Amino acid sequence: MMNDEIPNLDSFDEASLDAAFAALEAQARAAAAALDGEAAVEAFRLHWLGRKQGRLNEVSSRWLKSAPAEAKKLLGMRFNALKAAVEGLLEAAAGSGPSDAALAAEAIDITLPGTQRLTGAEHPITRTMNEIVSVFAALGYSVGVGPEVETDFYNFECMNFPPGHPARDTQDTLVVANQERRPQRDRLLLRTHTSPVQMRTMESHPPPVRIVIPGKVHRNEADDATHSSMFHQVEGLCVDTNITFSDLKGTLDHAMKALFGSSVKTRFFPSFFPFTEPSADVQISCIFCGGKGCRKCKNSGWIELLGCGMVDPAVFAFAAEKQSGYDPKKISGFAFGMGVERIAMMKYGVGDIGQFFGGDMRFLSQFA
Ligand SMILES: [Zn+2]
Repeated sequence: MMNDEIPNLDSFDEASLDAAFAALEAQARAAAAALDGEAAVEAFRLHWLGRKQGRLNEVSSRWLKSAPAEAKKLLGMRFNALKAAVEGLLEAAAGSGPSDAALAAEAIDITLPGTQRLTGAEHPITRTMNEIVSVFAALGYSVGVGPEVETDFYNFECMNFPPGHPARDTQDTLVVANQERRPQRDRLLLRTHTSPVQMRTMESHPPPVRIVIPGKVHRNEADDATHSSMFHQVEGLCVDTNITFSDLKGTLDHAMKALFGSSVKTRFFPSFFPFTEPSADVQISCIFCGGKGCRKCKNSGWIELLGCGMVDPAVFAFAAEKQSGYDPKKISGFAFGMGVERIAMMKYGVGDIGQFFGGDMRFLSQFA
């Protein structure tokens, strides 16, 4: 921005003043048009408007002081006009932002693919559990939940597994350490089934009760393709007057058809569980071969899927200690339970239960 020095003025008539100021304004405009960047704008400001060495300051001291009295008014008007013009140029330069070149360097190509963020999706176990729950919700069942760390009483004793009873051996249990000084029924363990929630619900709600209980359970088992020390169950409990085994059969037959398709058949086999009497295992006709026999059903045409039975009067007797309505002479009920992983493995053709919990996105993203 090397402009000429401000020349001395020889004549102060209007034409000379016009020409002198027009020349200065032309210089200012040329300099402003070439400005690029904040530093250049600031330099322009100092060069023209600086208090000590600014060109306008110089014009003022050189021309105004030497002007004859009659020319001072004309000169002052032109000086003010020039100052306003320079300030206008400065404002425009400062407000115009970065140059075209700077903008081009920072430009974003909006035709490039954007950053993809993964959206969450239901885990296949959660999805299966929700499907089971919704089948029973449609029948008027509500959802019950309870603690995963339970007392010996709720997990075993009130479910008719007395201390020392051999039925306890069927559920290898993970217990909380250093509980020996407590009475046995108060000792803490990781629940081996969701059944404790059945008792907790009955203790807090008089009959009738219809609940499904989805949740995590833990057993001290070696992990293999079909076993995991942590897995999920959905249990159900229905208590009312005059509940019979045919209600149980009808409910589960409907539920299996809702889950696996209307052509699925069910059949019931005598079984044993401490908390139900009589008890049954439920098989459904093979969903892969339709009952003809295939590798998945070991050529039997049937797949065993859940356990069930009529609630044992001994269980109601424990509930009646806190809710007198559970008098086993007046009410009856049924309960059932199923493993969520087993159903999910069948539904989605998963061969190894560990894949559900390995956190491998290649596996999980198939369900997203
Ligand atoms: Zn089959």
